[in-house]
Amino acid sequence: MSGQTLYDKLWNQHLVKQRDDGTALIYIDRQLLHEVTSPQAFEGLRLANRKPWRLDANLATPDHNVPTTIKERAEGNSGIKDPVSLIQVQTLDDNCLEYGIEEFKINDPRQGIVHVVGPEQGATLPGMTVVCGDSPHRDPRRIRRLGSRYRHVRGRARDGDPVSAGAKMKNMQVRVEGELGLGVTAKDVVLAIIGKIGTAGGTGYAIEFAGSAIASLSMEGRMTVCNMAIEAGARVGLIAVDDTTIDYLGKRPFAPTAEQWEAAVADWRNLVSDDDAQFDKVVTLQAEEIEPQVSWGTSPEMVTGISGQVPDPFAALDETVQRSHTRALEYMGLHANQKITDIKLDKIFIGSCTNSRIEDLREAAKVAKGNKVADSIKLAMVVPGSGLVKRQAEAEGLDKIFIEAGFEWREPGCSMCLAMNADKLGAGEHCASTSNRNFEGRQGYGGRTHLVSPAMAAAAAIAGHFVDVRTLPANDATHAQEA
Ligand code: SF4
Repeated sequence: MSGQTLYDKLWNQHLVKQRDDGTALIYIDRQLLHEVTSPQAFEGLRLANRKPWRLDANLATPDHNVPTTIKERAEGNSGIKDPVSLIQVQTLDDNCLEYGIEEFKINDPRQGIVHVVGPEQGATLPGMTVVCGDSPHRDPRRIRRLGSRYRHVRGRARDGDPVSAGAKMKNMQVRVEGELGLGVTAKDVVLAIIGKIGTAGGTGYAIEFAGSAIASLSMEGRMTVCNMAIEAGARVGLIAVDDTTIDYLGKRPFAPTAEQWEAAVADWRNLVSDDDAQFDKVVTLQAEEIEPQVSWGTSPEMVTGISGQVPDPFAALDETVQRSHTRALEYMGLHANQKITDIKLDKIFIGSCTNSRIEDLREAAKVAKGNKVADSIKLAMVVPGSGLVKRQAEAEGLDKIFIEAGFEWREPGCSMCLAMNADKLGAGEHCASTSNRNFEGRQGYGGRTHLVSPAMAAAAAIAGHFVDVRTLPANDATHAQEA
């Protein structure tokens, strides 16, 4: 019998009950909440006359609807001008207060994007099953939802524990081997992976990312990669535990301490796939072949390297691809064979749960340092992923670098990733965005999103159009991933 994959181990450790219909009940260790998806679940609990189970397994923070300007944030919830957004944030506050759930409120220094806050606090630990009512929740080392029913988790299952229902997925391993080139980051890696396997490539699979290039990434980089597993169709994104993981977790507020820490580390060391584990599918990329990526279309798989060009839809043999590429070019206002470097930008967004951690801001600041945002750019904004990231960036002087270059330095939140607050694209505007989705209207009605790394977004801000960050005058920008 062959060994187990990391996903198999996590599944088996959390399996409560296997059902005859192929679904299973899975024990859930942690739930992260935010304001958008939780009100309905709390209401469901009320209607069913049930209470949340294991209160200390929950952690909440508002992120989607919070304003990001310093002036509005100074007013707390009163600074939220949109009435629906205000109701959602206030409702989260009320529910957390009523049920005794810990919440980092709008002006708590620990507030931030829920997917950033979880690992940052050590609330997300190796081997945990973590649920969150939001799609990108697939950070390294943990399994997520596994087909969760949100309210089911929040309450208490009949057999007494918080569980989630779903069917076991197949195992896919995506290996990235070799050494990443200068200026090539975790974001470029994951965009290249999605470009190769497609947005449905991971459907039905749990993806484990492996190989020497993945192992060389920092925890921030690994979170960027796993965060976008959902964009490849996978419901789970994993990376094996190693020293980088354990070093990152030391002294995080929610992490185990004293003897429990030693015991936890010993346990976490087993969270790797066995050498003889069998994967249902293995995909391999060579790191040296990956260049800085830019999405040109309306799906993360519509992506190419910075030296590339917009494809000709009619060069595709498949009629469905021809139609989707034609539609994408129409929406994006681009034409076949247009050079990526010829795409002009209107706005720049550096933020989101994919790319708003301290390493991301350092990479962007290295490019911005000593430069100025092009006059043609209407707005260039940097939105830290959490209050703690913001504080760290300010301690390092990154805020000053951005402000001097002409960027707006904002308060933490989802911001223009989803445009649920005032940060939006106008119709027809092109944005170099470090977020994870480029669907039609994602950043505002009619807005045109191009997914890139933080360094590439900063370089585009300076140039006013896409530019290969590797060709900038020799400065630290071309050594971004060494930060
Ligand atoms: S930053 Fe974007 S993808 Fe991430 S949680 Fe917020 S809206 Fe969702």
